[in-house]
Amino acid sequence: MTKATIFNIQKYCVHDGPGIRTTVFFKGCPLRCAWCHNPESQHFQRELLYNPGQCTLCGQCQRQCEHGAITINQGSLKQDHSKCQACGKCLDYCLTDAREIAGQTYSLSEIIKEIEKDRPFYEESGGGVTLSGGEPLCQIDFVTELVKSCQDMGISVAVDTCGHVPFSYFENILAEVDLFLYDLKLMDPELHRQYTGVDNKLILENLQKLSARGGNIWLRLPLIEGVNMNREHINQVISFTRDLNISLVNLLPYHDIHRAKYSRLARPYAHHLMTTPSEEKIEEIKSLLETHQFKVKIGG
Ligand code: SF4
Ligand code: SF4
Repeated sequence: MTKATIFNIQKYCVHDGPGIRTTVFFKGCPLRCAWCHNPESQHFQRELLYNPGQCTLCGQCQRQCEHGAITINQGSLKQDHSKCQACGKCLDYCLTDAREIAGQTYSLSEIIKEIEKDRPFYEESGGGVTLSGGEPLCQIDFVTELVKSCQDMGISVAVDTCGHVPFSYFENILAEVDLFLYDLKLMDPELHRQYTGVDNKLILENLQKLSARGGNIWLRLPLIEGVNMNREHINQVISFTRDLNISLVNLLPYHDIHRAKYSRLARPYAHHLMTTPSEEKIEEIKSLLETHQFKVKIGG
């Protein structure tokens, strides 16, 4: 039976599609966006986050770790992520929750059990389930089974995707998915590669094909000052998407509240390259899109 690696199941979400939703976050992504809000979503394997701000240096974790990944010396704890096997043993002995593991394995029935708990909310609000990540379509076998099960149960499904997967993955689930939340980050291929690690050819092709095949699409545009907050980029988005089947554009202004997660994973974060756009500039972009007949919402 297929299993999936999930790093979060969030209840009562109102920004990941219509109504009240349960969002299932799949671990692993083919992109490495410089602004990623969920850096713990990027790698496919389980990993440890260590928060020194909550650590009392009691030393319990060090005594339990069989892999020599923790050293306490002269009043500070060094977490060696390269030695950590993400076994999770140290978590059981940390009384202050300074440690957490991102990534748990779920069977289909376990996920469905979680989803079913919130069925009354979906029915009352016109909501459902959103599969997000990471990139959920990278675990396509599990996702295919899950969306079919949701359809059988009469639960609406949205898929939040970066689009960088073979189009056959979309074809697998097109009949069962009610909404695609499709991210479009940068139109310039070189800049796209620079900021996400891959060029955007496949992403743009898939968006066109998905539209041609009748997928219901909400286009998600992250707005990041220093990266893509300029009229040239937005004009390119408009000319590429004006004839596509886009029912809503979500403008998603960058913020850096996720910054601490990078240090908990011991990962570099180029925060100096990116800032939050001003409300005036976001409104300007909203108006520009609206003059081209797009329906636009600030936020998810
Ligand atoms: S998760 Fe396991 S390997 Fe990693 S630090 Fe904790 S006990 Fe050591
Ligand atoms: S068990 Fe928790 S509080 Fe104690 S040293 Fe380890 S991380 Fe810090």
